[in-house]
Amino acid sequence: MVNMDVDVEALKLWRRDTGSRPRIALDIDSTWAGVLPVIIDNFNKAKGTNFTVEDHIDWDFKNLGSDYMEMMPFYASAWINRWREISFLGDLSLTIELTKDYYVSLLTTRSPTSEGVTGGTVDTMHEWIRLHGIDKILPPAQICDPKQNKAKDFDYDAYIDDSPRLADTVMQMPGKIQFLVDQGYNREVKDDGKKIIRVQDANHAMRLLIEVARGTIVSEEPRMTIKLKKC
Ligand SMILES: [Mg+2]
Repeated sequence: MVNMDVDVEALKLWRRDTGSRPRIALDIDSTWAGVLPVIIDNFNKAKGTNFTVEDHIDWDFKNLGSDYMEMMPFYASAWINRWREISFLGDLSLTIELTKDYYVSLLTTRSPTSEGVTGGTVDTMHEWIRLHGIDKILPPAQICDPKQNKAKDFDYDAYIDDSPRLADTVMQMPGKIQFLVDQGYNREVKDDGKKIIRVQDANHAMRLLIEVARGTIVSEEPRMTIKLKKC
């Protein structure tokens, strides 16, 4: 079972130690943008398979009989050709509230040019951001070029992100925390509720951040429990 317990006292200490305006990185893929159903659909159409989002329980797609490199063209195609179908999972009102207490920026890892396995996806990502009115609230998304750096190299105090790889890194970084957006493929991550705080979705993380900034957080009940799926 996965519990979403939050160590409220640890979160309050983190908030106290990060100064007046902590910096929050908000991931796009599978955190704010529901791109996975489109990727899986692209994959199914090409392979004649019938996988669902729930079947994706391994970060590297091995459970779908695939791997990261094979899957990337389906990811790129989702953003380039089907970006209007990618759902917005966020809450703009909540985001506006968050920006009153924090510096908030979108941070996404993808090639900024047409090269590489994620190449060509930046322009339509900006279109998607405009379509959902996010550009009216947040500064232009920061693009992390995987050839040059990693999300951890950017100066943020907290990451709202679904990546289990980033969680491994954040665990080693003093002062940084990650709100790990719960997904089937990151359930193996050891979340301690202090540095790695498992959340139901990005909005759950934003609510916690707003509450801790305003001193209204008292206790955080586990929002849900999920049975671990065996591979
Ligand atoms: Mg992501």
